[in-house]
Amino acid sequence: MAQINDHYLKLEAGYLFPEIGRRVRAFQEAHPDAAVIRLGIGDVTLPLVPAIVSALHEAVDDMATADGFKGYGPDRGYPFLVDAILEHDFRARGVELAADEVFVSDGSKQDSGNIQEIFALASRVLVTDPVYPVYVDTNVMAGRTGRADGAGRYEGIHYLAATEANGFVPDPPEGGGVDLVYLCSPNNPTGSVMTREQLGRWVAWAREHDAVILFDAAYDAFISDPELPRSIYEISGAEECAIEMRSFSKRAGFTGMRCAYTIVPKAATGTSASGERVSLHQLWSRRQATKFNEVPYIVQRAAAAIYSPEGRKQTAEQIAHYMENARILREGLSAAGFTVFAGLHAPYIWLRTPEGLSSWQFFDALLEKTHVVGTPGSGFGPSGEGYFRISAFNSRENAEEAVSRIQGAFGAES
Ligand SMILES: *Cc1c(COP(=O)(O)O)cnc(C)c1O
Repeated sequence: MAQINDHYLKLEAGYLFPEIGRRVRAFQEAHPDAAVIRLGIGDVTLPLVPAIVSALHEAVDDMATADGFKGYGPDRGYPFLVDAILEHDFRARGVELAADEVFVSDGSKQDSGNIQEIFALASRVLVTDPVYPVYVDTNVMAGRTGRADGAGRYEGIHYLAATEANGFVPDPPEGGGVDLVYLCSPNNPTGSVMTREQLGRWVAWAREHDAVILFDAAYDAFISDPELPRSIYEISGAEECAIEMRSFSKRAGFTGMRCAYTIVPKAATGTSASGERVSLHQLWSRRQATKFNEVPYIVQRAAAAIYSPEGRKQTAEQIAHYMENARILREGLSAAGFTVFAGLHAPYIWLRTPEGLSSWQFFDALLEKTHVVGTPGSGFGPSGEGYFRISAFNSRENAEEAVSRIQGAFGAES
């Protein structure tokens, strides 16, 4: 008898996006002529920039020659990519890391889901709420929780509400009682971003209470204010208590290419059952060596091209395109009477649903009246109820068309 992992049965019905997909398909079947605009799932829409495409072509040609052919790559990634990461993402902002503290991977979804493996099952986990569902679900699968209650809160997970009152950036809790904290800034779904002071309070708290911060900076490239921290290691002391995850997915259109990286500093430690301090770097190295065989050479070449002068310029233009969409959506929905948040340092608009409509009711109303698809805030956690996420990843035309339809349908009543 093959007994299953019963913890999977605790997972709330389906992942959010399959349910959205199901409702949109049902709507399209009923209305085959409706021109649906998808501002739901956070996926990029622009093609790869020319600098990346030429690097890809060259790398494919390398693979066709006896000299250039590459088999399994080096652990943690090729030096040409790791060096570019260290130089441009860290040294340029005053952060010194060692090359072997960078782990190139095939995605931050994977890394943010897998990282919990190196911590004890008894670890007490804190998430901000609403939250990227991967952090919670992977801890449920691992068996760190009980069942979810009616509001979708799993027993055993600590939820810290991100609300209008705290600007969607909650401060650390009073006291300790937590071992692992997931933070995401700029935030998916709320689009909020942490200031140096706010992030500094979390680092100080983690150090005081011997907790580890799992910092997801998948959207760091969307930060437009140079004063805002892009890396948690810009806060001194973070190298002892934080792991950071970054992705090329949103930054350079790599959602289908698959390349990201995770920083595990050698100074970061946890405690073993016998009370010794153990380097998290040692554990993650061992985990990756056993379970991961590196990112394809051609993809790492493409990722390195993001850091070339043309690559930097061209990807910055892509980000500017999405952020202009964010401005159009933010201002347009605001003009339609919605209470709108964020969209300044993230490709997401977070809005309050109209009086009397839950997140899913607004999802259905928006689809029905405007044929625009967004994401219900409640799908990201109980504190997301009453809110809604609109993604700026689309063409200019669609962003403008969505605004005009929404103004037409909701402008008068909301
Ligand atoms: C999109 C996203 C990621 C990126 O995942 P990849 O696997 O690198 O594509 C990670 N974290 C958050 C919060 C995201 O929204």
